[in-house]
Amino acid sequence: MKKLIIGNWKMALGYEESLRLAENLVLSQPYKPLSAEVAVCPSFVALPSVANILEGTAIFWGAQDATQFEPGPVTGGTSLESLVELDCRYVILGHSERRQLFGETDELVRDKLRATLERTNLIPVVCVGETLAEREAGRAEETVLGQLKAILTSIVMPADHRVVLAYEPIWAIGTGKTSTPEQAEAMHSFIRQFLGTLGFNGVRILYGGSVKPENAGKLLSRPNIDGLLVGGASLSASSFWSIVFA
Ligand code: PEP
Repeated sequence: MKKLIIGNWKMALGYEESLRLAENLVLSQPYKPLSAEVAVCPSFVALPSVANILEGTAIFWGAQDATQFEPGPVTGGTSLESLVELDCRYVILGHSERRQLFGETDELVRDKLRATLERTNLIPVVCVGETLAEREAGRAEETVLGQLKAILTSIVMPADHRVVLAYEPIWAIGTGKTSTPEQAEAMHSFIRQFLGTLGFNGVRILYGGSVKPENAGKLLSRPNIDGLLVGGASLSASSFWSIVFA
C-alpha cells in the first residue's frame, strides 16, 4: 500500500498565508512520480479556498477536527457533513493539542470517530500518544493501549478498514525531539498487534512528532510505519515535498 503523508497546518497560518502555501505546493511539486498519497489539513477558515486551489491536483485535503454533533444548534461547531460538502478526504481526530488545550477525552474522540464512520465516507486520522513522564516511567505502551481500547473497542470498523491511526508521542510534537525510528517502529508494531486482536488489519498507522526532511526517510523505511503526520515541517512547500520524496 502507498505511504500516506499528511501535513497538519494547525493554526499557524492566516487565511492568505494558507492560500499562498497551497499555491506553492502545487507550483513546486517535483516532476517525479508520486509514490505516496499526500494531503494537507488547513484551518477551517482556509479550507474551502485551499480546496479550490488543490482541486484537480495530486494533493488531497482534510480538516483538523470536527464535532460529533449533527448539523443544528451547535454554536462554533463544524459538522462532519460540511467537511463532506468541501470534498475533504481526511479528518484528524483527537490530536494531542485538542486533548491538552480543549480537554478532549478518549470518550469524546470515540464519539467523533463513530459519527465519522456512521455518517460520512471521510477517512478519520485518530491520534494517540504518551507524554514524556509516561515514557520515562516505562508506561508508554500502557498509555497508548489504554487510549486505543477506549477509542476503538466499541467501534464497528467499515469493510474498507479506512481508519488511520497516528502515533504521536506528545514529547516529540513541535519540540524538535523525534522518536528514533526504532522507538517508533516498536510502538507501531505494538499498535498493529493490538489492532489485529480486534480484527482491524487494514488500518494504516502514521508516525508524527518533529518529522523533518532529515529523518523522514529512515522513519518511512520501517515496515510498520505507513506514513507521517507532519506539523511544523509542512508549513514550507519545499520541506514538505522533501519529506514526501524522502
Ligand atoms: C503534529 O502536530 O501532528 C505534529 C506532528 O507536529 P510537529 O511535526 O511540528 O511535531
